[in-house]
Amino acid sequence: MNDSQLLYIPKIRQGIVIDHVPAGLGIQVLTVIRSYPGMKDIVVTLGINYKSSKLGTKDMLKLKTTELDDEIVNHIALIAPGVSIKRITDYDVDKRFTLQVPESIVNKVKCRNPNCITNFETNLATLFTLVDAEKHKFRCKHCERIFDLQELEFRFVKR
Ligand SMILES: [Zn+2]
Repeated sequence: MNDSQLLYIPKIRQGIVIDHVPAGLGIQVLTVIRSYPGMKDIVVTLGINYKSSKLGTKDMLKLKTTELDDEIVNHIALIAPGVSIKRITDYDVDKRFTLQVPESIVNKVKCRNPNCITNFETNLATLFTLVDAEKHKFRCKHCERIFDLQELEFRFVKR
């Protein structure tokens, strides 16, 4: 990143940076974060279409919060595997990790096969396992159909 771009992305003293979000997915990531209790009122800076040597263009989010729940992190991994999450303390990165495609998705998404038993017996947990890590393909345990990660719709489970 060069200096002129830095002007658009203020440095933060304390918070979470979600970086290397593929361009276009930043708004979706923000929507996910805001759907969780307690996250609606936090201060967020959303940057769209920054130049990236790795991705060409990327989106980036900066959140004024100290921690992100694992549940939120896992949800973001479903939308945009490969993004990096950094925790900033006193202007420095003190923790950094890259979100991997999950090996399995337990009861988080709906099956898109209308005939799948999980769409009739809604108390039945859905389970998808990764069959192709490169192409992000998952197989439903119940009907054995294979879906792209992007095709799977999040299933909100009552807590
Ligand atoms: Zn299924």
